[in-house]
Amino acid sequence: MNLTFSSEDNAFREEVRAFIGANLPAETRRKMEEGRALTKDEIVCWQRILNARGWAAPSWPKEAGGPGWTPVQRHIFLDELHQAPAPEPLSFNVAMIGPVLIAFGNDEQKARFLPRAANLDDWWAQGFSEPGAGSDLASLKTSAVRDGDGYIVNGQKMWQGMAHRADWMFTLVRTDPKAPKKQAGITFLLIDLKSTGVTIRPIITVDGRHEVNEVFLDNVRVPVSCRIGDENNGWTYAKFLLSNERTGIARIGMTKRLIARAKGFALQAAEPNRTRILERAAMLEAELKAVEITQLRLLASLKQGAPDPRSSILKLKGVELRQAAGELLLKAAGPAAYAFAYEDEDEAPFDIASNFFTLRGASIYGGANEVQKNILAASLLGL
Ligand SMILES: Cc1cc2nc3c(=O)[nH]c(=O)nc-3n(C[C@H](O)[C@H](O)[C@H](O)COP(=O)(O)OP(=O)(O)OC[C@H]3O[C@@H](n4cnc5c(N)ncnc54)[C@H](O)[C@@H]3O)c2cc1C
Repeated sequence: MNLTFSSEDNAFREEVRAFIGANLPAETRRKMEEGRALTKDEIVCWQRILNARGWAAPSWPKEAGGPGWTPVQRHIFLDELHQAPAPEPLSFNVAMIGPVLIAFGNDEQKARFLPRAANLDDWWAQGFSEPGAGSDLASLKTSAVRDGDGYIVNGQKMWQGMAHRADWMFTLVRTDPKAPKKQAGITFLLIDLKSTGVTIRPIITVDGRHEVNEVFLDNVRVPVSCRIGDENNGWTYAKFLLSNERTGIARIGMTKRLIARAKGFALQAAEPNRTRILERAAMLEAELKAVEITQLRLLASLKQGAPDPRSSILKLKGVELRQAAGELLLKAAGPAAYAFAYEDEDEAPFDIASNFFTLRGASIYGGANEVQKNILAASLLGL
């Protein structure tokens, strides 16, 4: 594999960098640099700027409204966003439900939802996990019973990231409790969160932030037109979505930025701390390079509509390195890790220290790291 970027790819990187430099709103840039949470309006505004340029949905083909980029261009684009730093386009919209609609949605669903997902007119949430169904997702109990041209949905979802900002939720429900395999009785529904019977309650996490929620579904009516693909075939679409989610969680550019910030603190530190931090940074950078090459190789060989167990490698290793980089930054920053205090209700206490806690969740969401090891053992190592 050729590990150098072509002159076209380097020119593309320059184009992306210049666009971000010229168009990222100053306040959004400041908050991203300080590791602060963004408001909904700031995220929507930036995604619409990207969408106006045709760049909001990096992995979508041209016919679906995406830029039709090569895997290398997609990699470069995200790398530049992470290192700028600028927000990624909302992954629930463009990396999760978008590709499922493109691969398995009907024409009406594509026309209705894809342009709005790209422009963030609809904010999507992921309604997969439940109190008793996380790692063992196929044990989910939320039920959907057919009633004329709709389904009546009852149950509880848990850990829905940003559901309090969302308009719609892509959801797994049980439609056949008697199916011979638990995976066989699951259906993929799109639920309008404004529907009667939907209640969203916040969960405040160890970093002090309100990011995740519980979602209660009490006799919620969902039209059949909001079902993806066939009834009882939702597990197939969910596996494809989870594979895309896991590939995206690696977020290599973000780890590069954490390491760069740690090195910045190291240069102001006295010996021997300075050398210790720089040595650890160099080791993390070497491992990160290996993950980056793996990501490029994987992106180049992904098949449309098919889950790829190799995404678990990226999720596992990418998150381990990001957490290690976050820890290094915490140590390198010392007391400065706690520099940014709570300013107003809209801003979480989101400094280096709370960022460190936020990163703990990355080894749990998208499927816990232990579960990724099980997937790799079974599907790649044949154990
Ligand atoms: C910050 C955050 C955001 C999230 N966002 C969303 C979201 O937007 N939408 C959504 O649907 N879900 C979301 N989740 C839920 C997430 O996918 C689940 O928490 C995750 O799948 C783990 O499930 P669980 O919490 O039920 O833990 P459990 O499944 O009970 O696992 C507990 C522990 O046991 C280990 N374990 C479980 N089974 C095995 C096994 N077979 N082998 C070895 N170890 C095992 C796990 O690794 C874990 O350490 C989010 C979670 C977090 C923390």
